[in-house]
Amino acid sequence: DLERSKVGEASLWDREAWDLSSRPPGLEQPQAEPLAPVRTPRPLDIGSLAAFLSENGLLAEAFPGFEYRPGQVAMMKEVAGALNSRRHAIIEAGTGIGKSIAYLLPAVVFAVRNSRAVVVSTNTINLQEQLTTKDIPDLLGVLHQAGDSFFDGDLRIAQLKGRSNYLCLRRWNAWRKTPGLPWEEAKFLLRLLLWVYSTTSGDRAELSITGSDAALWSRVCASEENCVVNRCPHYTDGCFLYRAREKAEGAHLIVVNHALLLSDLARGGILPDYSCLVVDEAHHLEDEATEQLGFKVADQDLRSCMDRLGDRGGFLFYLRNYLRTTSTGAPRKAEIKQRSDSLVAGTKRARSAVNELLDALTRFLGVELRDDQRGYEQRLRLTGALRRQPGWAEMEHSWEELDLELDNLESGLSELCTMMENLSDRRNPDLNSSLGESSYLLQQVRGIRSQLNAIIVSPEPHYVYWASIRSEGALCLHAAPVHVGSLLGEPLFLRKDTVVLTSATLSTDGNFDYVKNSLGLEEAAELIVEPPFDYVNSTMIYLPQDIPEPDRAGYQHGVGEALVGLCRATRGRTLALFTSHAGLRTAYKAVDAALDEEGILVLGQGLDGSPRKLLARFKDNPESLLMGTAAFWEGVDVVGPGLSVLVIARLPFGVPNDPVFSARAELFDDPFNEYMVPQAILRFKQGFGRLIRSHNDRGAVVVLDRRLQSKSYGRAFLQSLPKCTVRSGALRDIPQEVVRWLGE
Ligand code: SF4
Repeated sequence: DLERSKVGEASLWDREAWDLSSRPPGLEQPQAEPLAPVRTPRPLDIGSLAAFLSENGLLAEAFPGFEYRPGQVAMMKEVAGALNSRRHAIIEAGTGIGKSIAYLLPAVVFAVRNSRAVVVSTNTINLQEQLTTKDIPDLLGVLHQAGDSFFDGDLRIAQLKGRSNYLCLRRWNAWRKTPGLPWEEAKFLLRLLLWVYSTTSGDRAELSITGSDAALWSRVCASEENCVVNRCPHYTDGCFLYRAREKAEGAHLIVVNHALLLSDLARGGILPDYSCLVVDEAHHLEDEATEQLGFKVADQDLRSCMDRLGDRGGFLFYLRNYLRTTSTGAPRKAEIKQRSDSLVAGTKRARSAVNELLDALTRFLGVELRDDQRGYEQRLRLTGALRRQPGWAEMEHSWEELDLELDNLESGLSELCTMMENLSDRRNPDLNSSLGESSYLLQQVRGIRSQLNAIIVSPEPHYVYWASIRSEGALCLHAAPVHVGSLLGEPLFLRKDTVVLTSATLSTDGNFDYVKNSLGLEEAAELIVEPPFDYVNSTMIYLPQDIPEPDRAGYQHGVGEALVGLCRATRGRTLALFTSHAGLRTAYKAVDAALDEEGILVLGQGLDGSPRKLLARFKDNPESLLMGTAAFWEGVDVVGPGLSVLVIARLPFGVPNDPVFSARAELFDDPFNEYMVPQAILRFKQGFGRLIRSHNDRGAVVVLDRRLQSKSYGRAFLQSLPKCTVRSGALRDIPQEVVRWLGE
C-alpha cells in the first residue's frame, strides 16, 4: 500500500521526491558565531547579585509570589565565589531552596560578561526542560529589565540532549530503503518521513514517541557506535546531531544531561571548549559515569552485526544497486564484487564462531551460577578465581576462533571501504549509502572485537567484569570502572576552572567525604544549605522498637501489620518504599485484601502499572497506599496532605553480590562503614525527601528497620537528616501515634 501511496506525483519511497540531499528549509538558518572568551575574566559583583535575590530585589518585584530565602542567597554567593576564584564547590541544597536560580544567576551573568561558555548538566530531561523553558527565560526576563547593570549583550542558550534524542539521517535512510519491511516498521518510517522534512531539530520530543515506537526509534536515533562521522554523507550536510553541536559552539549557556557530559569527557568531540560547569542532581554522577565509562556486548549485538554483514545486509543492497548502474570499468567492478563475496563467506564462518562462544558462555554460567541467584537476571562477576575454571578455558578457546574471524572481517571491510572511497563516482547515492553502512560495520566489528578481548582475555585491574543471563536466555558480557573518580578526576576537576556539584543529597553524617572520594574531587568549597522547612514541627520519625530485624522471623508479618494499621487510620495517603521487588510483592500480598475491604487502593510497582501511571493514580486518589522500589526513592513530588505518611521498609543497603557494588566495596579498608553505610545513607535521604515538599506539608516517617536503633551505624542515618521530632514505641501504636501527629 505504501508503494502505491502518492505524494503529488511521487511514490513515498521515491528517492527523487524525498532525497535529503536537498536540505529541509529549516536547516538553512545561519549558525551563531563561536564565542571569543575574554582573556582575563571580569569577576562577578556578588553584592549586586545578592541584592537581586533579596526581599526587595528585582526578582521579588517581578514575581509577586517570590519568597526571599537566605539559603538561596548563600548558595548563589558560593557559586559566584567559585566562578570568580576559579575553584570548585560542592553544595547540598534540598527542596524549597530555589537551587536552580541560585546557580543560574551567577552562571549567566558570568558567561555573558566574559564570553565564556558555562555548561549546566542535569540527570533528567525533565529538569533540562524546566531550566530551558521556565527558569532561564524567567530569569532573563528580569535581568533584561535591569538594563545593562548585570550584563550587556544577548545570552545565547543551547540545549544539547543525549545522542539518542536525535534522528540519525544515515540510519533512517538505510532503514527506509530496506526491501520487504513489516507493516509496523513501514508505518513508523512513514510517520518519520512526514516529520523529517519539516523539523529543524530532529529531536524526538517533537514526535511524542511512546510504547512500541520507542523500540523502533532506537533503530534510527543517533548513537555513538552507529555514527561514522566524516564517512557519513550527512555529516556536513543536515545531520541534526552535529547541527545542534554547532549551535552550542556559539552559546553562553549550554544545558546538557550527565550522559552527554560524561561521554564528552571520556571521548571528546561533543561539547565546545568550556572551563566552567555546574552539575545539578550530582548524586547521579557516579552511576552515570559507571554507565558511560563502561561497556557491554550482548548476544543480540553480535547477531545483529552478523545479520547486517551477511547476504541480506544493507551495505550489499546498496552496493549491488551501485554495481548495476555504474559506468565504472568492468575490472574494478569485478574486484569489488569479489571482495564483497568474500565478506559474505567470512560472515558465515564468524556467525558459527559467535554461536560457539555463546554456547560456551551458557555452559559456563550453568555450572558457576548458584541456585539461590535464580531470578529475572542473574549476574556472575568474572573474578580471577573464576577465570581459572575449566569452563573459562573453553570460553577463551572459542574467543580465539571468533577473534580470528573478526580480524578477517575487519581487514575485508577496511579494504572494501578504501576501494569505494577511491572510486571516481564517489558521490553516487548508492555508493555513498553503502560506504556509510560499511564504515559503520567496520567500526562495530572493531569495537566488539576490542571489548570482547578486554572482557575475555585481557581484563584491566581497575575494571570489574561480569556476565549476565536473563530468564529468557539473553546473554551479555559487561565491564565497568571500579573507581570512577580515578577516571573523572583529571578531565573534570584538574582541567576545568570551576566545577560546582549540587544536589539535595550529597553529604553523609554532615560531610562530603564519600561523594568527593567516589568522584575524585580533592579540593572544593563546601556548603550544606539549611533546609527552609521547619522539620521539628512538621515531621515525626517513628521507630517501632519491637519489630524483628529484617530477615528474622516475624519481620514480614510486622511490615504487613504496620501498613494495614496505618492505612486504615490515615485512609491511605501513604508511600511505602522497598529495597527489592521480592520484599514489595510479599508485603503487597499481606495487605491487599485487608485494605481493599476498607476501600483503600493498593498500588504496587511492577504489579499495577508503570511508576509514572501509579504516581498519577496516587495523586488522583489519595485514599491509596503506593508501594514502590528504586524508581520511587526519588522523583516523587506530591505536595499537600495527599502524601502524609512515608514508610521505609528497610534501610537501602546495596546488594552485596552485585558485581560493581562488591568490587567497589573491596577498595575500602572498612567496606561496611566507609562504603556501604554512606551509600545507603544517601539513598535513605532521597527517600526521606519525598515527604515534605512545601512549607505547609506535615507528615510522619515510619522506619520499619530496627537496625536504625540496634546498630551503631543507625545514628549516622538519623544525623544525616534534618532535625525532626523522633519518637519510638510499640509496633501496634504506630497508627495512633501517626494520627495524633497529623492532628486528625
Ligand atoms: S553524522 Fe553520525 S549521527 Fe549524523 S547522520 Fe551521519 S551517522 Fe548519523
